[in-house]
Amino acid sequence: MAYKFHFGNRPLPILANGLGLLLLALYLAFGSEACSAVAAKPTDTRPKQRPNLVATTSNFVVRSYDGGPDAAEIAQVCETLRPQIQNKWLGKVSADSWKPTCGIVLHATKGSYLRAVGPGAGQTSGSSLINQQSGRIVSRRIDVLVDQHGRTTALPHELTHIVLADYFPGKQPPAWFDEGIATLADSEEKLARHNRDCCHAVHTGTAFPLIELLTLDNLSSAEQFPAFYGQSVSLVRFLAERDEPTKILPFVKLGIETGYAEALRTSYGIESVGQLQRLWLNNVLALQAR
Ligand SMILES: [Zn+2]
Repeated sequence: MAYKFHFGNRPLPILANGLGLLLLALYLAFGSEACSAVAAKPTDTRPKQRPNLVATTSNFVVRSYDGGPDAAEIAQVCETLRPQIQNKWLGKVSADSWKPTCGIVLHATKGSYLRAVGPGAGQTSGSSLINQQSGRIVSRRIDVLVDQHGRTTALPHELTHIVLADYFPGKQPPAWFDEGIATLADSEEKLARHNRDCCHAVHTGTAFPLIELLTLDNLSSAEQFPAFYGQSVSLVRFLAERDEPTKILPFVKLGIETGYAEALRTSYGIESVGQLQRLWLNNVLALQAR
C-alpha cells in the first residue's frame, strides 16, 4: 500500500503552537474564563453571553458548534496568526484579503471530524484542504477537532499550510517542505518527539537519504512516518537557521524548477545534495550531543 501525501488528511496528529504564542495566550484566557466562572460570586446573576457559532472576518469564516469555542474569538486568533506566518516565511504581510476566504470548521467529536475529512485521518486532529483550478485557489478549508479542554491546537499548523499555498499557485509544495514547515508551528513537546524520531532514524539506518526525501511524495509503509516527519522538520529548521527563514521559499521554488543541486548553490552556497546531506547530518548529531 502506498501512502500518498495530499492536503487533506495529513497523517500526523497535530498539536500546535510554535508560532502561536498569542494563540496560546488566548486559549489560556479561555481556560481562565472557565475557572473564573467556577469561582464567580454567587450574587453574579448576569446572563452569560452565548458563544458565537459563526463568525466572518476579512479572511475567515469560522463555524463552531453548541458548547464549542467562540467562533468570533477563533476568527480573531486566525486573523492574528495569518500575518505572523506571512511575515516569518514570506518576509512581508499581504495587503490583500483572501478571496475566497478560508473556511474553518470546528468539530466536537471524532465522528464529525472524520466525516468531514475522510476516514484515513483517524490519527489527526487537523486537516487543511486547498482546491485549485487553472492555477487559482478556488477554496480554502481547515477542519479542526476540538480537544476535551476546548482547545484548537492544530490551527497554527494547518494555517501554515494554507498561507504557504499562496506561494505555489497551481502546484502542491514538496511534501518534506510542506509538512516540515507546518510542523515547526507545533508545540515544543511535539517538536521534541519529532526530534527523537529523527535521531532514532539516523542511528538505526532507517533515515531517508536527503536525495530521496526531497522528492518524496509517497511512503511505502506507515512505519516510515516518524522518520519522514522527524527529518522533514529537522531539514526545514536547519535551512531556516542557516540563513534568513525567508530564503527557504525561493529555494524550494527554484528546486522545483531547476532541481535541488542548482537551488542549493544559488540559495545557500551548498555545492550539492551530497554536501547538504553531510552538513545536515553533522547538525543533527551536534544537536543531539548537547
Ligand atoms: Zn500538515
